[in-house]
Amino acid sequence: MIKKLVDLNFSTLKLSSNMGLNALVETKKGTKITVNQDNSLAVPDDPIIPFIEGDGVGGDIWMATKKVINAAVKKSYQNKKKVHWLEVYAGQKAFDMYGDWLPEDTLQAIEEHIIAIKGPLTTPLSGGIRSLNVALRQKLDLFACIRPVKYLDGTPSPLKNPEKTDLVIFRENTEDLYCGIEWEANSSDCKKVINFLREEMGENIRMDSGIGIKPISAFATKRLVRMAIEYAITHNKKSVTLVHKANIMKFTEGGFLKWGYEVALKEFAEKTITEDRLHSDFGGEIPPGKVLIKDRIADSMFQQVLLRPEEYEVIALPNLNGDYLSDACAAQTGGLGMAPGANIGIPTALFEATHGTAPKYAGKDKINPGSLILSGCMMLDHMGWKTASDLITNALQITIANKTVTYDLARQLKGARELKCSEFGDELISNMEKTA
Ligand code: NAP
Repeated sequence: MIKKLVDLNFSTLKLSSNMGLNALVETKKGTKITVNQDNSLAVPDDPIIPFIEGDGVGGDIWMATKKVINAAVKKSYQNKKKVHWLEVYAGQKAFDMYGDWLPEDTLQAIEEHIIAIKGPLTTPLSGGIRSLNVALRQKLDLFACIRPVKYLDGTPSPLKNPEKTDLVIFRENTEDLYCGIEWEANSSDCKKVINFLREEMGENIRMDSGIGIKPISAFATKRLVRMAIEYAITHNKKSVTLVHKANIMKFTEGGFLKWGYEVALKEFAEKTITEDRLHSDFGGEIPPGKVLIKDRIADSMFQQVLLRPEEYEVIALPNLNGDYLSDACAAQTGGLGMAPGANIGIPTALFEATHGTAPKYAGKDKINPGSLILSGCMMLDHMGWKTASDLITNALQITIANKTVTYDLARQLKGARELKCSEFGDELISNMEKTA
């Protein structure tokens, strides 16, 4: 639909879809990002990038983020590059306008434009959708949730040495318990499933149980671990750690572990070594140019990231463990307000604030826009616009070091000056001058 609308002569256009007039006016300008034969991106100087503003605090953080990204791009490339933003709708705004929480046009627009960015979305309490975020990830096959966890100097942290935390989490995004295959206790379907498991499989399950299914496949595991290892190789990271509960769930989490090692040993034999060989063949030292593949049981990993975070650089793990570990790691480096994230497929990529809609702060211009701003930096990196991304990160570093921060950081920082969400964005822009 988007393509059709853009190709139409604007003056003869009739609005037949749920895309708003603003979107159409915006798409008259700008050029679409495309994909080269080798799957790399061809990013024009005037890319059209769809955005979902998001619910709750989404409007506040998006306003600040858009202003910061536009300023950084303008300053970095002296007006030679410019993002053309295209609003697409999901969540409450889409439901209010079109009676649909996740319109098909929105999915199509993101697919067609390859890269998009979004604020947080309310989980509808009815309407058959469990979570809009999960639906977006599954429908667009954004199979890797990537969360870099890096400490910016001066950010309040519960750790004594938070600067030792510098890792990137690759969480599988499309399966595990998040497939939403479950049956309510005492429903007739649930009884059918339990009877099958009792009678056909000999499993002793209580009749009043609720049941959920946890599929973990070789296909999804391998493409995730492949992406994590490729990332480690191209970014000169020393290790990739597979995190799992294979000791308890042998064929799901255990499968993840087995298939993860298979990818490393079969597809990256020249570039990787395993932990046992590290000691037997290499005297405990990772040889130059090699990535160490190791694994840890999930519960122990929660201790490891607190006690010895410097030993971990890239972490790959299934969906549920990944959900928990990502937020725990975010807490070590400033909390959800400072944690960026992206959902990546091939080639589609959706960058997002990792926190929720924080309804009690909605419209109060109070919340920290750092998560969405840093996700914007990930997006700029992904586009190859690293100068703009670095400009923002450096400005963020100065802003935090100056203790000019939003409420969440101010309440933990002695002597801080509390800024509103929009003021924090403006402060970043003014600090870009000092770093340029
Ligand atoms: P939440 O919206 O993330 O907020 C929980 C608390 O985290 C806030 O009250 C606030 O703590 C802190 N926080 C969140 N974002 C912050 C920011 N930018 N700056 C500073 N502090 C921040 O979680 P929730 O209340 O559990 O969820 C609310 C709704 O969001 C639900 O509908 C949920 O389904 C949805 N959700 C969406 C996403 C997503 O779209 N990716 C993710 C998670 C949840 P204080 O009150 O202590 O200041």
